[in-house]
Amino acid sequence: MEPVKGGSLVHVPKDIQTKLLNLDGSLSIASWAIRFAASLKNIRVVLSGMSNLEQLNDNISYMKKFKPLTQEENDFLIKLGDQIRTSIAIPCTACNYCTPGCPKHICIPEYFSLFNKRKQNLSKGKSSEYDDLKNEHGKPYDCIECGQCERVCPQKLPIISNLKKVADEFE
Ligand code: SF4
Ligand code: SF4
Repeated sequence: MEPVKGGSLVHVPKDIQTKLLNLDGSLSIASWAIRFAASLKNIRVVLSGMSNLEQLNDNISYMKKFKPLTQEENDFLIKLGDQIRTSIAIPCTACNYCTPGCPKHICIPEYFSLFNKRKQNLSKGKSSEYDDLKNEHGKPYDCIECGQCERVCPQKLPIISNLKKVADEFE
């Protein structure tokens, strides 16, 4: 399940996208993640989580006559995975499982996305996007640490401490 990690392995930093396109410009960014999972030993089925016709057609284009990754491609992807992990401060996939039960209506994935962008741009100071989120939803520092969100997060993220980082960054 989740070979593209909720779509986050498509929205990778530009330099990583370029490396994948240089590897084979005829293949989509998502295809590398799905073929990586499908090439693992003992894998019979990959649930790709596609959500529109374009994604379905893309999946069919390389899975109909599936070619497993070469050892070279596999090694390359492992290295890119390390780069992705270090470039994304909070690896939230924006699945939104955590938000419906939040008693403070905190838009957790949106705050994390803003924080990740900030860390990638290395920018500082006030953010109007952050202020907009605070005006429309619960604020990161409204969190009462009930733990509901952490219990349901499939990525097992330390959401409570990450929200504190968000508040420290933008307040
Ligand atoms: S721990 Fe905080 S963010 Fe998580 S559900 Fe509870 S109040 Fe919301
Ligand atoms: S459940 Fe976890 S991964 Fe999903 S949106 Fe919430 S913090 Fe992100």
